[in-house]
Amino acid sequence: MKVYLDHAATTPCDERVIAATQPFFGRYYGNASSQHWQGEVARAAVEAARGQVADLIGANAKEIVFTSSGTEANNAALKGVVWGRRDKGNHIITSAIEHHSVLETAKFLEKEGFEVTYLPVDEYGMVSPKDVEKAITERTVLVSVMHANNEVGTIQPIEEIGRLTRARKVYFHTDAVQTVGSVPVDVEKFSADLLSLSAHKLYGPKGVGALYVRKGVFLQSLLHGGDQEGGRRAGTENVAGIVGLGEAARLALQWLKEGAHLEALRDRLIKGILSGASGIKLNGHPVRRLPGNVNVSVEYIEGESMVLHLDAAGIAASSGSACSSTDLKPSHVLLAMGLSHELAHGSLRLSLGKDTSEAEIDRVITVLPGVIGKLRAMSPLAAKKEVVRV
Ligand code: PLP
Repeated sequence: MKVYLDHAATTPCDERVIAATQPFFGRYYGNASSQHWQGEVARAAVEAARGQVADLIGANAKEIVFTSSGTEANNAALKGVVWGRRDKGNHIITSAIEHHSVLETAKFLEKEGFEVTYLPVDEYGMVSPKDVEKAITERTVLVSVMHANNEVGTIQPIEEIGRLTRARKVYFHTDAVQTVGSVPVDVEKFSADLLSLSAHKLYGPKGVGALYVRKGVFLQSLLHGGDQEGGRRAGTENVAGIVGLGEAARLALQWLKEGAHLEALRDRLIKGILSGASGIKLNGHPVRRLPGNVNVSVEYIEGESMVLHLDAAGIAASSGSACSSTDLKPSHVLLAMGLSHELAHGSLRLSLGKDTSEAEIDRVITVLPGVIGKLRAMSPLAAKKEVVRV
């Protein structure tokens, strides 16, 4: 039995999404900027998709800018806004647990002379709205706090943060790559000025994302050489990818309306893992967490070893985020939450998707204790503590 529990890294493309994109690789090959029948078909498809994405997040179609990824959307949100507001100030506020596409962009901007405040989080990975408020100065031009964390799944008090940034007339960006399609997202409720999303996290294709830019917010384009996307993103549109994102957004809206059902399976998995072996800690908030996220730290064991052993049993999981799984540094998210290096190294993320079944969850609950027992028996750390726990 093969079990895929790495939906936070990427989701499988929905069959209906694949079907919707197909004609745009063949019959409809036009450039959406061309003024003839082929161009018109492409343009109509891009605009229909813009409407579908806007509907999913409570935006107006004109406020959606298509990008090549969530990473590009985050880069565009930070650089594109602060470059255009240099006359207003040079201070940016973000959190210590953002995705690298926000953190590395913030570091890049620091080298350019911007000042960045990296807000701490509590033991559950929560940012305090009070900390945001305290950090705002007259020089603050942007606050960027993610909606939910990709590693531990903690959902931030985004509405409160949005309200207070709006009251202080500071632009607010949220990286909603992990939440769009998974939980309700509404730019009005969030008081968001900018919001990033990515198709491949909501059963759409890879290599396409979008940035919501509230009407009236000036976004300097990262790319030059074309006036596509209303001058906010140069380059011929990825028509098939955009159509795929649109269809994925339409299906997500339907799915969310029907009432998502992942929490019960997630909680079954958490309970099963915690009772299957000792020395396991649940990472992230016990309640305010993504419906599909399970993240635990296992004492005396490396997360990578667990991932390899689970893979050998046909179970796809991850340790830390997929983007950082090739380096051996412990997760910056878990360290910011106050975990020791040892526990941070021992993290395992299992992320569920809309097709995950109870049988798959039970398979993990059965297999994992054996993997933990085997690895602990080999662990020099466990031997040092003179305990070999299963
Ligand atoms: N932001 C978050 C929270 C993510 O989880 C990811 C991907 O893992 C990204 C941004 C980057 O998105 P993309 O893979 O589309 O570049």
